[in-house]
Amino acid sequence: MNSYPFYAEYFNKIYITADVKNTVYAERILKRLPGTPFSIIKARKDIPESDLNSKTILITSPKGETVGRCPGTQGHICCNYLTIDLYIGCTIGCSYCIMQSYLNFSPIVVNAEPEKQIQRVLEIAGLNSGRTIRIGTGEVGDSLLFDPLFELSGVFIEAFSESPNIFFELKTKTNFVEHLLSIPEKGNAVIGFSLNPQNIADREEGIAGTVQERLAAAKKAADNGYFVSFHFDPIFLYPEWKKDYLKLVDTIFNEYTIPAEKIVWISMGTFRYPAGLKDRAGVKDIFLEEFVPSKDKKYRYIQKTRTAMYKSIADRIAGFGKDIPIYMCMESRSLWKNVFGGIPADISGLSDIFNHTRGL
Ligand code: SF4
Repeated sequence: MNSYPFYAEYFNKIYITADVKNTVYAERILKRLPGTPFSIIKARKDIPESDLNSKTILITSPKGETVGRCPGTQGHICCNYLTIDLYIGCTIGCSYCIMQSYLNFSPIVVNAEPEKQIQRVLEIAGLNSGRTIRIGTGEVGDSLLFDPLFELSGVFIEAFSESPNIFFELKTKTNFVEHLLSIPEKGNAVIGFSLNPQNIADREEGIAGTVQERLAAAKKAADNGYFVSFHFDPIFLYPEWKKDYLKLVDTIFNEYTIPAEKIVWISMGTFRYPAGLKDRAGVKDIFLEEFVPSKDKKYRYIQKTRTAMYKSIADRIAGFGKDIPIYMCMESRSLWKNVFGGIPADISGLSDIFNHTRGL
């Protein structure tokens, strides 16, 4: 697929900081979007206020600590996921995205010096040999939305391909996997797809790929040597939720025949939101159910409802492969006990991936 016209139409302006102007990534965007005006600047602060929005793309080098921990959330069990900020910002436009307010005042930022981040991850992996390191670029944006333009993910995949304990995950709502298929050494790279029933995707997930497109891409990735993961997050409560989500699980295995052994993990998280998101989004159906405030000041469906939702989906998945690791994102100990009968440390297949990582 030549997706460059899609980007050319979207971005109004390119800024490149002088320290990365000679990198292959800066050269690529200028070559691939030849008609888009660009400027070389010293630092981000040189971008005029009128261009501080998501129609601007900034190519720069990472500042400060290059690898972080998923921030987790107070009072809830954290999965000890590590994060690399590679593409910061996202233009898919999900209604439930907590990044929306950030995007109104910030360009899309691309970190064009992957070497620093790669070195840091390899160092952490060395300190944790024998334990699984899960690390991904999907925390502050969609991992693959801009990747066909820069092809940065492939650099990480190849650099980690010989490290048996690094599971590097690219999390997406697109089907932009084509440029990754021919990478010769994939190691334990994982392409993760966030999923919702199509009626939810149509209503709430902006310009994301259709669910069929995402699943076709997952199948292609699995057939070409990648591990895959699925993220049912956020799961919404509505009258037909059960029928729709269970059908979605069936579609993964029956229609797209994705082998259970290629699925490294599946996460689930019911819809939750900080008060600010509701204020910004205004009156929307997704806020009409019964919610309770949690310890992290986010609002969640009541516990009994969440338990029922998680159990139904997890049971359906287990019916296709009882060894597929399934976990919940940002849930309390009591929820874990209700749904899985214990916390991750007690569950075989999860205790390893939830392990605390040394060196950060
Ligand atoms: S894909 Fe993720 S980062 Fe992008 S708008 Fe949707 S929720 Fe936000």
